[in-house]
Amino acid sequence: MIDDTTQWTDALIHLFALAARLEGEGQYNLAKLMRAAADSLCRRESYPLEIPSDPERLAVEVQRATEALSRLNMSAELLAASRQGAAFMAQGKLSPITATPHPYVCRGCGHVTLAPPAEPCPICGAFAETFQKFMPNYWFDALQPEAARERLRQTPLVVEQLIAGLSDEAMNQAAPDGGWAIRNTLSHLRDAQGVLDFRVDLFLQEAHPVLESKAVFAWAKNEAERPPSPRAIFESYCAARAETLRKLESFAPADWERVGYHEEFGAVTLRQQVSYFAAHEGTHLAQIRALCG
Ligand SMILES: [Zn+2]
Repeated sequence: MIDDTTQWTDALIHLFALAARLEGEGQYNLAKLMRAAADSLCRRESYPLEIPSDPERLAVEVQRATEALSRLNMSAELLAASRQGAAFMAQGKLSPITATPHPYVCRGCGHVTLAPPAEPCPICGAFAETFQKFMPNYWFDALQPEAARERLRQTPLVVEQLIAGLSDEAMNQAAPDGGWAIRNTLSHLRDAQGVLDFRVDLFLQEAHPVLESKAVFAWAKNEAERPPSPRAIFESYCAARAETLRKLESFAPADWERVGYHEEFGAVTLRQQVSYFAAHEGTHLAQIRALCG
Protein backbone atom coordinates (compact mmCIF):
# COMPACT_ATOMS: atom_id res chain seq x y z
CA MET A 1 0.00 0.00 0.00
CA ILE A 2 1.12 3.54 -0.70
CA ASP A 3 0.85 5.50 2.58
CA ASP A 4 0.91 9.05 1.31
CA THR A 5 -2.54 9.57 -0.24
CA THR A 6 -1.62 12.89 -1.85
CA GLN A 7 1.45 11.38 -3.48
CA TRP A 8 -0.69 8.51 -4.73
CA THR A 9 -3.39 10.81 -6.18
CA ASP A 10 -0.76 13.02 -7.82
CA ALA A 11 0.92 10.01 -9.42
CA LEU A 12 -2.38 8.74 -10.79
CA ILE A 13 -3.55 12.06 -12.19
CA HIS A 14 -0.12 12.65 -13.71
CA LEU A 15 -0.29 9.26 -15.47
CA PHE A 16 -3.66 10.17 -17.04
CA ALA A 17 -2.41 13.64 -18.09
CA LEU A 18 0.76 12.16 -19.52
CA ALA A 19 -1.17 9.47 -21.45
CA ALA A 20 -3.44 12.13 -22.98
CA ARG A 21 -0.40 14.21 -24.03
CA LEU A 22 1.33 11.15 -25.52
CA GLU A 23 -1.83 10.30 -27.48
CA GLY A 24 -1.88 13.89 -28.73
CA GLU A 25 1.64 13.37 -30.04
CA GLY A 26 0.74 10.04 -31.70
CA GLN A 27 2.82 8.04 -29.16
CA TYR A 28 0.06 5.50 -28.58
CA ASN A 29 2.31 2.66 -27.49
CA LEU A 30 3.79 4.78 -24.70
CA ALA A 31 0.34 6.11 -23.80
CA LYS A 32 -1.06 2.60 -23.39
CA LEU A 33 1.69 1.80 -20.87
CA MET A 34 0.78 4.87 -18.77
CA ARG A 35 -2.94 3.96 -18.85
CA ALA A 36 -2.19 0.32 -17.96
CA ALA A 37 0.04 1.47 -15.07
CA ALA A 38 -2.74 3.74 -13.73
CA ASP A 39 -5.28 0.92 -13.95
CA SER A 40 -2.86 -1.54 -12.33
CA LEU A 41 -2.11 0.85 -9.45
CA CYS A 42 -5.81 1.33 -8.70
CA ARG A 43 -6.56 -2.40 -8.80
CA ARG A 44 -3.46 -3.33 -6.80
CA GLU A 45 -4.32 -0.87 -4.03
CA SER A 46 -8.02 -1.77 -3.97
CA TYR A 47 -7.49 -5.57 -4.09
CA PRO A 48 -6.82 -6.01 -0.33
CA LEU A 49 -9.55 -3.57 0.81
CA GLU A 50 -12.47 -5.16 2.67
CA ILE A 51 -15.84 -4.08 1.25
CA PRO A 52 -18.98 -5.68 2.77
CA SER A 53 -21.03 -7.95 0.48
CA ASP A 54 -24.49 -7.82 2.02
CA PRO A 55 -26.80 -5.50 0.03
CA GLU A 56 -27.80 -3.18 2.90
CA ARG A 57 -24.23 -2.41 3.95
CA LEU A 58 -23.16 -2.19 0.33
CA ALA A 59 -25.93 0.36 -0.31
CA VAL A 60 -24.53 2.44 2.57
CA GLU A 61 -21.07 2.24 0.94
CA VAL A 62 -22.51 3.50 -2.37
CA GLN A 63 -24.26 6.32 -0.50
CA ARG A 64 -20.95 7.27 1.16
CA ALA A 65 -19.10 7.19 -2.18
CA THR A 66 -21.87 9.27 -3.77
CA GLU A 67 -21.52 11.92 -1.05
CA ALA A 68 -17.74 12.01 -1.51
CA LEU A 69 -18.21 12.36 -5.30
CA SER A 70 -20.71 15.14 -4.72
CA ARG A 71 -18.05 17.10 -2.79
CA LEU A 72 -15.76 16.58 -5.82
CA ASN A 73 -18.38 18.18 -8.15
CA MET A 74 -19.29 14.95 -9.93
CA SER A 75 -22.12 15.21 -12.48
CA ALA A 76 -25.51 15.47 -10.74
CA GLU A 77 -26.93 13.05 -13.33
CA LEU A 78 -24.46 10.31 -12.36
CA LEU A 79 -25.00 10.95 -8.63
CA ALA A 80 -28.79 10.69 -9.03
CA ALA A 81 -28.45 7.40 -10.95
CA SER A 82 -26.10 6.01 -8.26
CA ARG A 83 -28.65 6.82 -5.55
CA GLN A 84 -31.44 5.17 -7.55
CA GLY A 85 -29.31 2.07 -8.21
CA ALA A 86 -28.45 1.80 -4.50
CA ALA A 87 -32.16 2.07 -3.61
CA PHE A 88 -32.95 -0.90 -5.92
CA MET A 89 -30.11 -2.92 -4.36
CA ALA A 90 -31.33 -2.12 -0.82
CA GLN A 91 -34.69 -3.67 -1.85
CA GLY A 92 -32.89 -6.81 -3.03
CA LYS A 93 -33.37 -5.96 -6.72
CA LEU A 94 -31.06 -5.44 -9.71
CA SER A 95 -30.99 -1.86 -10.91
CA PRO A 96 -32.67 -1.61 -14.36
CA ILE A 97 -31.18 0.25 -17.34
CA THR A 98 -33.89 2.91 -17.01
CA ALA A 99 -32.62 3.94 -13.54
CA THR A 100 -28.92 3.41 -14.22
CA PRO A 101 -28.10 4.04 -17.91
CA HIS A 102 -24.63 3.53 -19.43
CA PRO A 103 -22.41 6.56 -18.70
CA TYR A 104 -20.33 8.27 -21.42
CA VAL A 105 -17.20 10.16 -20.35
CA CYS A 106 -15.52 12.76 -22.56
CA ARG A 107 -11.98 11.50 -23.22
CA GLY A 108 -10.85 15.12 -23.41
CA CYS A 109 -12.17 16.91 -20.32
CA GLY A 110 -14.00 14.21 -18.31
CA HIS A 111 -17.51 15.62 -18.82
CA VAL A 112 -20.11 12.87 -18.02
CA THR A 113 -23.47 12.23 -19.64
CA LEU A 114 -25.89 9.32 -19.12
CA ALA A 115 -27.44 9.55 -22.61
CA PRO A 116 -25.56 8.59 -25.80
CA PRO A 117 -24.01 11.95 -26.75
CA ALA A 118 -25.45 13.45 -29.95
CA GLU A 119 -23.72 16.85 -29.77
CA PRO A 120 -20.06 17.81 -29.26
CA CYS A 121 -18.89 18.03 -25.61
CA PRO A 122 -20.31 21.24 -24.07
CA ILE A 123 -17.06 21.82 -22.13
CA CYS A 124 -14.23 21.05 -24.58
CA GLY A 125 -15.98 20.59 -27.95
CA ALA A 126 -14.82 16.98 -28.45
CA PHE A 127 -16.99 15.12 -31.00
CA ALA A 128 -19.79 12.89 -29.68
CA GLU A 129 -18.25 9.66 -31.09
CA THR A 130 -15.07 10.20 -29.07
CA PHE A 131 -16.73 9.75 -25.66
CA GLN A 132 -15.89 6.56 -23.74
CA LYS A 133 -18.95 4.39 -23.07
CA PHE A 134 -18.90 2.43 -19.79
CA MET A 135 -20.58 -0.97 -20.15
CA PRO A 136 -21.63 -2.94 -17.01
CA ASN A 137 -18.75 -5.39 -17.57
CA TYR A 138 -16.31 -6.47 -20.27
CA TRP A 139 -18.12 -9.71 -21.14
CA PHE A 140 -20.41 -8.19 -23.80
CA ASP A 141 -17.63 -7.61 -26.31
CA ALA A 142 -14.97 -10.01 -25.04
CA LEU A 143 -15.42 -12.73 -27.69
CA GLN A 144 -16.40 -12.80 -31.35
CA PRO A 145 -18.91 -15.55 -32.35
CA GLU A 146 -16.38 -18.23 -33.27
CA ALA A 147 -14.23 -17.64 -30.18
CA ALA A 148 -17.33 -17.51 -27.98
CA ARG A 149 -18.62 -20.84 -29.33
CA GLU A 150 -15.19 -22.39 -28.80
CA ARG A 151 -15.11 -21.08 -25.21
CA LEU A 152 -18.60 -22.49 -24.58
CA ARG A 153 -17.33 -25.85 -25.86
CA GLN A 154 -14.12 -25.77 -23.81
CA THR A 155 -15.34 -24.62 -20.39
CA PRO A 156 -17.23 -27.84 -19.52
CA LEU A 157 -14.08 -29.80 -20.46
CA VAL A 158 -11.97 -27.65 -18.12
CA VAL A 159 -14.52 -28.11 -15.33
CA GLU A 160 -14.53 -31.87 -15.95
CA GLN A 161 -10.75 -31.98 -15.49
CA LEU A 162 -10.94 -29.86 -12.32
CA ILE A 163 -13.54 -32.08 -10.63
CA ALA A 164 -12.15 -35.41 -11.88
CA GLY A 165 -11.78 -37.84 -8.98
CA LEU A 166 -13.56 -35.61 -6.42
CA SER A 167 -16.17 -37.31 -4.22
CA ASP A 168 -19.71 -35.94 -3.87
CA GLU A 169 -18.86 -35.16 -0.26
CA ALA A 170 -15.87 -33.02 -1.28
CA MET A 171 -17.99 -31.16 -3.85
CA ASN A 172 -20.79 -30.54 -1.32
CA GLN A 173 -18.33 -29.06 1.21
CA ALA A 174 -18.88 -25.29 1.67
CA ALA A 175 -15.87 -23.00 1.20
CA PRO A 176 -13.91 -22.26 4.42
CA ASP A 177 -15.47 -18.75 4.53
CA GLY A 178 -18.98 -20.23 4.30
CA GLY A 179 -19.18 -19.37 0.61
CA TRP A 180 -20.15 -21.57 -2.32
CA ALA A 181 -19.29 -25.27 -2.42
CA ILE A 182 -18.22 -26.68 -5.82
CA ARG A 183 -21.80 -27.96 -5.98
CA ASN A 184 -23.12 -24.36 -5.89
CA THR A 185 -20.72 -23.23 -8.61
CA LEU A 186 -21.80 -26.19 -10.79
CA SER A 187 -25.44 -25.26 -10.12
CA HIS A 188 -24.68 -21.67 -11.07
CA LEU A 189 -23.04 -22.72 -14.37
CA ARG A 190 -26.07 -24.91 -15.13
CA ASP A 191 -28.51 -22.07 -14.26
CA ALA A 192 -26.63 -19.56 -16.43
CA GLN A 193 -26.55 -22.12 -19.26
CA GLY A 194 -30.35 -22.40 -18.92
CA VAL A 195 -30.76 -18.63 -19.23
CA LEU A 196 -28.42 -18.55 -22.26
CA ASP A 197 -30.38 -21.32 -24.00
CA PHE A 198 -33.73 -19.63 -23.28
CA ARG A 199 -32.42 -16.37 -24.75
CA VAL A 200 -30.93 -18.04 -27.83
CA ASP A 201 -34.42 -19.43 -28.51
CA LEU A 202 -35.94 -15.96 -28.07
CA PHE A 203 -33.48 -14.49 -30.57
CA LEU A 204 -34.43 -17.32 -32.98
CA GLN A 205 -38.17 -16.76 -32.57
CA GLU A 206 -38.57 -12.99 -32.23
CA ALA A 207 -37.24 -10.02 -34.19
CA HIS A 208 -36.72 -7.84 -31.09
CA PRO A 209 -36.92 -10.06 -27.99
CA VAL A 210 -37.27 -8.58 -24.52
CA LEU A 211 -34.73 -10.17 -22.18
CA GLU A 212 -35.85 -10.22 -18.55
CA SER A 213 -33.16 -9.48 -16.02
CA LYS A 214 -32.28 -12.55 -13.92
CA ALA A 215 -30.38 -12.65 -10.63
CA VAL A 216 -28.82 -15.99 -11.63
CA PHE A 217 -26.14 -15.60 -8.92
CA ALA A 218 -28.80 -15.75 -6.20
CA TRP A 219 -30.12 -19.16 -7.35
CA ALA A 220 -26.89 -21.09 -6.73
CA LYS A 221 -27.83 -22.21 -3.20
CA ASN A 222 -31.45 -22.96 -4.11
CA GLU A 223 -31.75 -26.76 -4.11
CA ALA A 224 -35.30 -26.96 -5.54
CA GLU A 225 -35.41 -29.14 -8.69
CA ARG A 226 -31.67 -29.87 -8.56
CA PRO A 227 -30.33 -33.30 -9.45
CA PRO A 228 -29.20 -34.94 -6.19
CA SER A 229 -25.47 -35.31 -6.88
CA PRO A 230 -23.00 -32.60 -7.97
CA ARG A 231 -21.87 -34.85 -10.81
CA ALA A 232 -25.45 -35.17 -12.08
CA ILE A 233 -25.75 -31.34 -11.98
CA PHE A 234 -22.54 -31.16 -14.02
CA GLU A 235 -23.80 -33.74 -16.52
CA SER A 236 -27.09 -31.90 -17.08
CA TYR A 237 -25.07 -28.69 -17.65
CA CYS A 238 -22.95 -30.48 -20.29
CA ALA A 239 -26.00 -31.94 -22.06
CA ALA A 240 -27.77 -28.56 -22.15
CA ARG A 241 -24.57 -26.91 -23.42
CA ALA A 242 -24.30 -29.34 -26.35
CA GLU A 243 -27.89 -28.49 -27.33
CA THR A 244 -27.21 -24.71 -27.20
CA LEU A 245 -24.06 -25.11 -29.31
CA ARG A 246 -26.10 -27.01 -31.88
CA LYS A 247 -28.57 -24.07 -32.08
CA LEU A 248 -25.76 -21.51 -32.37
CA GLU A 249 -24.36 -23.40 -35.38
CA SER A 250 -27.59 -22.59 -37.24
CA PHE A 251 -27.18 -18.79 -37.00
CA ALA A 252 -26.05 -16.94 -40.15
CA PRO A 253 -23.46 -14.16 -39.67
CA ALA A 254 -26.17 -11.44 -39.85
CA ASP A 255 -28.24 -13.21 -37.15
CA TRP A 256 -25.49 -12.54 -34.60
CA GLU A 257 -26.27 -8.82 -34.88
CA ARG A 258 -29.98 -9.25 -34.03
CA VAL A 259 -30.87 -6.84 -31.22
CA GLY A 260 -32.83 -7.61 -28.07
CA TYR A 261 -33.81 -5.31 -25.24
CA HIS A 262 -32.44 -6.36 -21.84
CA GLU A 263 -34.20 -4.95 -18.76
CA GLU A 264 -30.92 -4.55 -16.92
CA PHE A 265 -28.47 -3.76 -19.75
CA GLY A 266 -30.54 -2.08 -22.52
CA ALA A 267 -29.97 -2.93 -26.20
CA VAL A 268 -27.84 -6.06 -26.62
CA THR A 269 -27.09 -8.16 -29.70
CA LEU A 270 -27.12 -11.97 -29.80
CA ARG A 271 -23.34 -11.77 -30.33
CA GLN A 272 -23.02 -9.76 -27.09
CA GLN A 273 -25.25 -12.17 -25.16
CA VAL A 274 -23.23 -15.21 -26.25
CA SER A 275 -19.94 -13.41 -25.53
CA TYR A 276 -21.32 -12.41 -22.12
CA PHE A 277 -22.20 -15.96 -21.06
CA ALA A 278 -19.02 -17.49 -22.50
CA ALA A 279 -16.75 -14.94 -20.78
CA HIS A 280 -18.74 -15.05 -17.52
CA GLU A 281 -18.05 -18.78 -17.08
CA GLY A 282 -14.30 -18.18 -17.11
CA THR A 283 -14.61 -16.10 -13.94
CA HIS A 284 -15.85 -19.17 -12.01
CA LEU A 285 -13.00 -21.52 -12.97
CA ALA A 286 -10.59 -20.03 -10.40
CA GLN A 287 -13.31 -20.48 -7.76
CA ILE A 288 -13.59 -24.23 -8.53
CA ARG A 289 -9.80 -24.63 -8.65
CA ALA A 290 -9.42 -22.93 -5.25
CA LEU A 291 -12.00 -25.32 -3.72
CA CYS A 292 -10.29 -28.37 -5.27
CA GLY A 293 -7.08 -27.44 -3.44
ZN1 LIG B 1 -15.09 17.39 -23.18
